Amino acid sequence: MLVFKFGGASVKDAEGVINLAQIVKRYPKEKLLIVVSAMGKMTNKLEALTHAYLRGEEEVHQIFEEVKAYHFEILEKLFPDHQHPVFNDVANSFVEIDWLIEEEATDAPDYIYDQIVSIGEIVSTKIIAAYLNLAGANAKWLDARNFIQTDNNYQEGNVNWEKTEEEILQNLSPVLEHHIGVTQGFIGGTSENFTTTLGREGSDYSAAIFASCLNAESLTIWKDVPGVLNADPKWFDETERIPQLSYHDAIELAYYGATVIHPKTIKPIQNKNIPLYVRSFLQPEAEGTDITEAENQLPIPSFIFKVKQVLISIFPKDFSFIIEENLSDIFNLFHKHKVKINTMLNSAISFSVSIDEDAEKLQKLIEELSVHYKVKYNTGLELVTIRYYNQQTIDRVTVNKNILLEVKSRHTCQVVMKDQTVIS
Ligand code: ASP
Ligand code: MG
Repeated sequence: MLVFKFGGASVKDAEGVINLAQIVKRYPKEKLLIVVSAMGKMTNKLEALTHAYLRGEEEVHQIFEEVKAYHFEILEKLFPDHQHPVFNDVANSFVEIDWLIEEEATDAPDYIYDQIVSIGEIVSTKIIAAYLNLAGANAKWLDARNFIQTDNNYQEGNVNWEKTEEEILQNLSPVLEHHIGVTQGFIGGTSENFTTTLGREGSDYSAAIFASCLNAESLTIWKDVPGVLNADPKWFDETERIPQLSYHDAIELAYYGATVIHPKTIKPIQNKNIPLYVRSFLQPEAEGTDITEAENQLPIPSFIFKVKQVLISIFPKDFSFIIEENLSDIFNLFHKHKVKINTMLNSAISFSVSIDEDAEKLQKLIEELSVHYKVKYNTGLELVTIRYYNQQTIDRVTVNKNILLEVKSRHTCQVVMKDQTVIS
C-alpha cells in the first residue's frame, strides 16, 4: 500500500491533473491511496470568500463566481463530453456554498470557515477521481470526513486517533483492495458529521494520518521542487537537494519554518517507521529526498530564512530578575494571543523573543505585556536559522547585517538581524 499526496500546485490546471494521472499510471501493480489538496490557490480564494461573507460584503458573490469559473474551466479541458456526470457532481458541491451565503451569518465564524473552505478539497478530488477513471484507472472518490475523525475545534481540528484508525481499517482498507482511492487532504469530520479543517497546509498531515493508520509501505509527497532543499531558492542563490534526511532533522527543519513539509506530518509516520519520499511531480523518476529513521552521516547545513520579524524585549518594571514566575506569565500571554515564538533568549533582567509581524496581534500583545513589564520592540528584522552551522555559514548569511540576537545550540544557530542596506 502506497499513499501519495498531491498539493495544490500540482493540480493547479488541467495539465496538472493529466500529469497526476500519468504519475499514477507508473504504479499499475500497487495499491494506492491518493490524498489531494484544493486546486492551485483555491483555499486562499475560499478564505477570502468566507471573510467577505462574514463581513456581509457584496463581493462574496463575485469571488464565488471566480471559484466556480476556475474549476469549470479545468473540467471543460479535461472532459470533452460536457454531459459527463462530473459536471453535475461539482455543481452540486458548490450548491452547499450557495445555500450558506444566501443566509445571514449566524453560526460561529470558525465553523462557517470550515464548511466553506473544505469545498476546495471536495471539488478537486471529484474532478481528479473522475479524470482518473476517464483515463482508464479504477478510481473511487472517498470522503475523508468519514475517516479522519476530529473534535469540533474548527479550523484546527484535533484528530481522534482511535476512531480514525478504526474507520480507516474497517471501511477504507477493503475499498483499496480493488480501487485507487482518491480522498481529500486538510479536512475531517466530527462525531456529529460536521466538517472540520486541520489547519492551513494540513494536507501533508492528512496523508501522514492515512499512511500511518493503513500501515502503508511509504508516503510520497509530490512537489514542485526536486526534494527537500537546504535553503529556499527564493532567498538563496545556491541551494542543494538533501538526498537523505532523518525524521528528526525533518521535524527540526519544519519546526523552524522550512515550508517543504507541514510540521505535523513526520510524527505519525515516524511512529510506524514509514519512509517519506519527497519527489518532483515534474520529474517523477528523479531521486528527491528520502526521509527515514537513518541519521544523516554527512549533515548538510540547512538555512531557513524569515523576514518581517519583530524582536520584542521584555523587562520587569521593578528590574527584578527574569524568574520563573515572570516567564510563566509572559508565556501565558503569548499563548493567549496565539503568537508563536520563533526564537528566544533570556538574560538576568530581560527576555527577548522574535515573532512574525502581525500588526493586529502585536498591538494587543504589547498592550497587555506593558501592564506589568517594560517592553521594547524592533520591527522589519530577519531571522535566519542554520541547522548544522559552523562559523563560515554564519558569516555567509550575516554579511551586511546588524546582528541583534544570536542563539546557539549544538546543531542549530539562530540569528535575528537587520539588513544594513535597508534604510528605515
Ligand atoms: N488546501 C489547504 C491549504 O491550502 C491544505 C493544503 O494545501 O495542504 O491550506
Ligand atoms: Mg494548498
